[in-house]
Amino acid sequence: MSTNSLRIAVIGGGIAGTAVANALKVRGIRADVYEQASEFAEVGAGIGLRPPSVNCFKKWDLYEALEKVTSRSDLMEIIQGDDQVLIRETWPVLTEDKTDAYARLIHRADVLDTLIAGVPEDQLHLNHRLTEIIDHGMYSEVKFANGNKIEADIVIAADGIRSPIRGQVLGQHEPVYSGYLAHRVLIPFEAALGMASEENILRIYVDGDNSFYLLPLENRNQVSVDITVPGEFAWRPELTKEEIMESIKGFGPTLQKIVENIKLEDIVSRPLCDLEPISKWSTKTITLIGDAAHAMLHNQGQGANMAIQDAEVLAEAISEAAAGTITVAQSLQKYEEQRKPITKLYQELSRLFPTDQAETAFPEKAHF
Ligand SMILES: Cc1cc2nc3c(=O)[nH]c(=O)nc-3n(C[C@H](O)[C@H](O)[C@H](O)COP(=O)(O)OP(=O)(O)OC[C@H]3O[C@@H](n4cnc5c(N)ncnc54)[C@H](O)[C@@H]3O)c2cc1C
Repeated sequence: MSTNSLRIAVIGGGIAGTAVANALKVRGIRADVYEQASEFAEVGAGIGLRPPSVNCFKKWDLYEALEKVTSRSDLMEIIQGDDQVLIRETWPVLTEDKTDAYARLIHRADVLDTLIAGVPEDQLHLNHRLTEIIDHGMYSEVKFANGNKIEADIVIAADGIRSPIRGQVLGQHEPVYSGYLAHRVLIPFEAALGMASEENILRIYVDGDNSFYLLPLENRNQVSVDITVPGEFAWRPELTKEEIMESIKGFGPTLQKIVENIKLEDIVSRPLCDLEPISKWSTKTITLIGDAAHAMLHNQGQGANMAIQDAEVLAEAISEAAAGTITVAQSLQKYEEQRKPITKLYQELSRLFPTDQAETAFPEKAHF
């Protein structure tokens, strides 16, 4: 089969969907991305991109664009109270390129914008909410709420933790609630009252296993705040400022002051959910990627990293199918077999909350 003859539909225009479109593009393969929303947007929060993910941006000719919106970070700290540093640790390298050992701190929206800029406009389709997928064995039919229908030789389900495709084709796998809510907000650097690092260190303040992340975003002169505390499940929790203040009373006075100064309407609260590892990601023509395949808690900061690294492996496997050396079904199996062990490991490790009892900020180090 020639490179251009495979019809590839990616459902979901988040980090996973746009990453795989880029990874296929550099291999000369077109993929159309269908996103339900009327614009591409990410919840405001900072993340740490790890060296193997940065390496993917290099392969996709997006490294320069990425570097403009990131800052390099050497270290992570776990701190108790206002200033007792319990752990100060370098980010694990986990890549062959030892000269590029830094994590890159970046806002999720800047990751997404960088990826979208790499995809030709005529491949991006907004206002396309998948309502039904019919797996015909050798191809699939996809129906959208706007009345459009498409057929594809490969459907890549990049439709997030509640993936409707996974539900329709691979069985129900309900998200698991961790018992924790995350309250997230971006604040100006000065509003962190000296608690955020000027050296781009990700700081996690702990109170037992409740945590308060301060992740500096140098290029924006902002700090991404993430407060993870126990709370009652709701997809869109609505808390009062008093309830949030009550839940953080174990943290030091300066951290409490930071929150006191934040307007309630600027805080985005979400339940922290993940999936149990799923044994089967693919049919002969449909496969899962990113959170749809292996949503994990944010404790190891690996969800977006895994989505990006999935994209590279999947695109490489599909390129072999496009070249005719293996079948489409074999390519999806190859991808799944390669990615499942590492994503399962991170799903498990991500259930460990950073705590004042932790011996390392990176329990993954013991496994590589
Ligand atoms: C605040 C926060 C902090 C995080 N911190 C980190 C970190 O430090 N490091 C890290 O690596 N990861 C982190 N993560 C996790 C990471 O952001 C996610 O794992 C990653 O964004 C998942 O991307 P995705 O594209 O698979 O899913 P999503 O981002 O959920 O995208 C799914 C897309 O599919 C679309 N969609 C859904 N249903 C349909 C449908 N029926 N039809 C069409 N489109 C549909 C949605 O609108 C959405 O755009 C964090 C997450 C959050 C929320």
